[in-house]
Amino acid sequence: MLTVENLEKRFGGIVAIDGASFEVERGSITGLIGPNGAGKSTTFNCITGVHTPDGGTVTFDGTDITGRPPHAVANRGLVRTFQIAREFPEMTVLENMMLAPNDQLGESLWRSVAPVARREVVEQEERVLERAWETLEFFEIDHLAEEYAGNLSGGQRKLLDMARALLTEPEMLMLDEPMAGVNPSLEKKILERVHDLREQGYTFLLVEHDMDVIMNHCEHIIVMHQGSVLAEGDAEAITSNERVIEAYLGGEI
Ligand code: ADP
Ligand code: MG
Repeated sequence: MLTVENLEKRFGGIVAIDGASFEVERGSITGLIGPNGAGKSTTFNCITGVHTPDGGTVTFDGTDITGRPPHAVANRGLVRTFQIAREFPEMTVLENMMLAPNDQLGESLWRSVAPVARREVVEQEERVLERAWETLEFFEIDHLAEEYAGNLSGGQRKLLDMARALLTEPEMLMLDEPMAGVNPSLEKKILERVHDLREQGYTFLLVEHDMDVIMNHCEHIIVMHQGSVLAEGDAEAITSNERVIEAYLGGEI
């Protein structure tokens, strides 16, 4: 579903990604791990068009998306959440949902200035609203719809972030530390939703520090170290890999 080949990204003198190559199989929950500074977030940023890579290619579902801007990548069906959730604190949860980057919504807003097919526009907006509610229900945050996003807990914010990502009707979701700062019951809920969505055919790439989460929920794990891929395989292969153990020396693996 996603192929990254020889990805490179430098920030001035810092080489953040140094020829990383890996694949994410359709329908999988794949984990991307590595010590702090390994280049995981930068890899996410280069894949989703937040940063332009200095080298290499990114292919999604057979299409070269290297260097495409975030909305173009999202329109193709690949969306991500951020390590720090990016909702608008002074808007309600539902308002935040309605702002999710969505082609249909953008189009309907544009068309609402034209008198033609007003009924069609209204119907389309109703569909978007209906989907927003359904998605909030799926994440069990519909009771918070009228709450200001700024009043949500860290975990609820992560759920809102995932709900917004889902509203763009993607095929693949990339989650950057979705469990960071989340209490155990919400963490369980997030993981359940990830598995539900995978059953429905969605593909996941997950960056997560919690090794138990990675080892128990990802069938394929990619280990980054100093900007490139050090090892990949299933949980058993990764935990017994000498180079991985060395890279994490003093860490929790
Ligand atoms: P990870 O997510 O694996 O912890 P990052 O991708 O955030 O790692 O960072 C990889 C390297 O790139 C680090 O050395 C980091 O300091 C550097 N880096 C990341 N983003 C920037 C940036 N916007 N400007 C300068 N350096 C950056
Ligand atoms: Mg990071």
